[in-house]
Amino acid sequence: MLRQALLVASRSGGARRVVRTAPFTGDVVRRFVAGETIDDAARVTGDLTGEGLLVSLDVLGEDTPDKGHAEANVRHYVELLERLGAAALGTRAEVSVKLSAIGRTLGDDYALENARRICEAARSAGTTVTFDMEEHTTVDSTLGIVHELRRDFPDVGAVIQSYLRRAEEHCAELAYEGSRVRLCKGAYGAPTAVAFTDKEEIDRSYVRCMKVLMAGKGYPMIATHDPRLIEIAGALATLNDRDADSFEYQMLYGIRPQEQRRLAAQGAQVRVYVAYGREWYEFFMRRMAERPANLRFFMRSLVGR
Ligand code: FAD
Repeated sequence: MLRQALLVASRSGGARRVVRTAPFTGDVVRRFVAGETIDDAARVTGDLTGEGLLVSLDVLGEDTPDKGHAEANVRHYVELLERLGAAALGTRAEVSVKLSAIGRTLGDDYALENARRICEAARSAGTTVTFDMEEHTTVDSTLGIVHELRRDFPDVGAVIQSYLRRAEEHCAELAYEGSRVRLCKGAYGAPTAVAFTDKEEIDRSYVRCMKVLMAGKGYPMIATHDPRLIEIAGALATLNDRDADSFEYQMLYGIRPQEQRRLAAQGAQVRVYVAYGREWYEFFMRRMAERPANLRFFMRSLVGR
């Protein structure tokens, strides 16, 4: 119930105004958000890649209401990719993009054209793009756009959310040669008609999806902080004779940083999803919804303890 309330609050303009204007939210937000500017993103990327970790950068901002905002977001991504290109990091630093940030509400064709511009900039920078998955109502549209983009940019990454009942079927469709697929549990609310809502069921679905992806010919990107699922991923990789460079683990910036380094020290590829930008509210609230400990930490900062 708390999770649902926080997910609803993540979409509320009033709650956004209260949280955004509270000066004491700064430190708590910084735990999950790398900063507000390209310079912040470049600094954190340099630090993480210097430690042998990989990075996926997300420019915060979603549900853009008009072409002006969408265009500004596309230009920001292009500028960011130019910076990454100049740093010559290759695919060690890629970008993650939400189609809602680049104009999906204004039509799939418009979002597709904007996505193409970002993919072209990524290609020039020698790196890749992964398209985040958002609300369940947008899954078909996102997979359709990713499918279209892959005709010209085969390395475009797709995301599957294990809480969706169709996740395993989608994994099977996407487990082909060269296909980069991020598997996560799913961070949005979804009705039981389309999604598992019980944690155990979501985890079991995650394992089924991993089995399909690890046995397939694609490149699985195992995005979770769940110790049990990370262990199962390692076992499935061994079972399927996968080399360490044929899949990767992914975790969010600020969550289980020691585990990220532990896995990397063992020779695994670990990519850290680094979100930055001024529009941090929705992303931050989803992190609060995921874990009561994060919420307690946040509430303590509100009362100044
Ligand atoms: P949870 O069930 O939340 O946590 C499982 C266990 O992990 C916990 O019991 C605990 O042991 C450990 N853990 C979790 N958080 C912490 C913490 N703060 N500190 C210590 N231990 C912790 N969702 C989408 O809907 N679309 C996307 O495109 C998307 N992209 C993502 C990309 C990446 C790289 C990652 C890591 C997540 C992404 N997500 C996305 C979010 C994802 O769907 C989950 O909401 C989020 O990862 C939390 O789920 P979990 O797998 O960590 O499991």
